[in-house]
Amino acid sequence: MVNYFDFNVLNCLIKINATLENKTPLRIGRGSEVKPGGLDLAVERDYWDRVYIPGSSIKGVMRSLVEKIARAQGLEVCNPLDIASRRLEDEKGPCIVCGIFGGGGVSKNSIASHVHIFDAYPKEDVKTATRTRVAIDRFRQAARHGALFTYEYVPPGIKWSFEMHIYNIDIIDGDEEKDPRIKLLRALFKYLYEFGLQVGSMRSVGLGLLTLVDGVIEKYVIEDFRLKPVKKGKLIEEVRKW
Ligand SMILES: [Zn+2]
Repeated sequence: MVNYFDFNVLNCLIKINATLENKTPLRIGRGSEVKPGGLDLAVERDYWDRVYIPGSSIKGVMRSLVEKIARAQGLEVCNPLDIASRRLEDEKGPCIVCGIFGGGGVSKNSIASHVHIFDAYPKEDVKTATRTRVAIDRFRQAARHGALFTYEYVPPGIKWSFEMHIYNIDIIDGDEEKDPRIKLLRALFKYLYEFGLQVGSMRSVGLGLLTLVDGVIEKYVIEDFRLKPVKKGKLIEEVRKW
C-alpha cells in the first residue's frame, strides 16, 4: 500500500514543460455558463488582458479522465463532488485519484495535491474571433425567438505552454505495480497525446480539444540540500514507451 501522506519529504520532483495545441476552437469563459441573451461572452483573460487557460480548468479535465480510467480498471474512486462519497474517505483514507489530485475525506484524511498545474499561456499572439449562434430552446428543440448570442473564442491551431509539477510520483523510473498512480499518470499523458482532452465550454459541440504536441520531462532529486536534475528527456518519446 502506497502512503499518500508523504508531503513531509521530497523524494522526487517531475517537471513537465510541454506544448499543447488546440485542434478545435477554444472557449474558456469568464462566467461558468454560456447564457443566451445577445451578450458578448468574452474569453478568459488575466490582469494584463492576456488570453490564458487556467491551470484549474486543465486539472479538472485531467482528474475527470483519470477517474474514468481508474474506474474502468475496477479501482475504487470517490466522487469529489458528492459529500457522502467523500465521507467514506474519512474512514478508508483517500482513493487513488485523490492520491494524485488531492481531496480525500471531509473531517479527516483530507489530502493535498501531488500535482501542480500552472496556467497555460499562448506561445504566439492570439487574435480571437467571435461567432453568433441561435440559442436553442432545450425543451422545444427549436430556436428561441430572437435569442441570438455572440461568443468569443480562440481559433484552432494555437500553441500553449503547459507546465506541471509532480511530487513524489516517479513517472519516469518508478514501478507501476508498486504505485499504480504512475500507471494512471502515464495513461493520462498517452491519452492527451493520442486523443487530446477537451477544456472550456461548448465541449459537446467539439470545442476546446487540446493535444500534446511537444515537451520535455525532467526529474529532480534532493542532493546536498538542493534540487538536482538527474534526468531529462523528450516527453513524446517517453509517452510512446508508456
Ligand atoms: Zn477520492
